[in-house]
Amino acid sequence: MRKKVIAGNWKMNKLFGEAVEFVEETKNKVVSQDKVESVVCAPFPYLPTLVEKANGTELAVAAQNMHFEESGAFTGEVSPSMLADIGVTYVVLGHSERREMFAETDETVNKKAHAAFAHNLIPIICVGETLDQREANETMTIVEDQVKAALAGLSEEQVKASIIAYEPIWAIGTGKTATSEQANEVCTHIRKVVADAVSATAGDAVRIQYGGSVKPANVDELLSQSDIDGALVGGASLEADSFLQLVEAGA
Ligand code: PGA
Repeated sequence: MRKKVIAGNWKMNKLFGEAVEFVEETKNKVVSQDKVESVVCAPFPYLPTLVEKANGTELAVAAQNMHFEESGAFTGEVSPSMLADIGVTYVVLGHSERREMFAETDETVNKKAHAAFAHNLIPIICVGETLDQREANETMTIVEDQVKAALAGLSEEQVKASIIAYEPIWAIGTGKTATSEQANEVCTHIRKVVADAVSATAGDAVRIQYGGSVKPANVDELLSQSDIDGALVGGASLEADSFLQLVEAGA
């Protein structure tokens, strides 16, 4: 039985006080980690404070990105060891916004996945097709290539511990959710890709989230699908109430 993971991806939103207020409001209300993993993916400057506030509770704190290098002349970057050092436990890698606007590639995502595991960070690896690619019937091959590239060279244990977020780009922030069947079809394919590339056990164990306009009104339907093990949520994760409803849905 795979445990569901509900991750709120705040993106570049909230000021410091709002971020702290959110964590204070939710940290004692989220469901036990034994039942569902609740994660907030916050901007870098807030991470140390949020980790401290959430310490000892069932709420986990994630970064939205990191560099794969350990240290050195990389102005403006944040290393995996910096995140691990302050107690961050998950990191989002290869979000489509980073791929589109910040030159993230399959190769850098793969390097970051290796770096994450070297520091005991759980990667949430994002994959997904554009609308053009979906209309050209390329969804399965695009996603397959992204998944294989991201996981290349990871051990079976690392793949089992990974989280893959399937996020069709046309569904992100648009209010257009993939139907639960469309979402599940791709998640099922991703699981098969992992099973074929790594092992049947890894395919069974890897958690696959859906992301793209998930909200309290559609989350139950999405989470009831056979291969969807959680959600990566942008807009609907910004309000504490809505985030808590999404977490409840995962339990
Ligand atoms: P959305 O964003 O829920 O606002 O569509 C999802 C994401 O980008 O992770």
